[in-house]
Amino acid sequence: MNLNHIMNALNLDRFIYYEDIMTKGKSVTHVIDKEWCKGCGICVHFCPKQVLELDSNGKVEAVRPEDCIACMLCELRCPDLAIQILKQQEGENDSQK
Ligand code: SF4
Ligand code: SF4
Repeated sequence: MNLNHIMNALNLDRFIYYEDIMTKGKSVTHVIDKEWCKGCGICVHFCPKQVLELDSNGKVEAVRPEDCIACMLCELRCPDLAIQILKQQEGENDSQK
């Protein structure tokens, strides 16, 4: 299952911002629903690596995605389910390519 399949399954194809980063054999994707994000900053506060900031519209964005350790705190703390972390090990799903 690739990212598009996941997005279709979750019906998350509106106002979605994707930030894909591959580091140390791991791919981390930040999936942010800009419509659902209310800019409360909880995820920004809890991120241990200062990956997230609010943009000029008051919506969260991943400004340093290469520093993300995929700890999931942002996703777990968001009260509006507006941010999701997808992680994949290098080589996963190669058979489906
Ligand atoms: S915790 Fe959720 S609603 Fe608040 S800024 Fe982060 S993504 Fe947006
Ligand atoms: S998964 Fe962890 S390190 Fe990555 S953006 Fe979210 S809180 Fe920050």
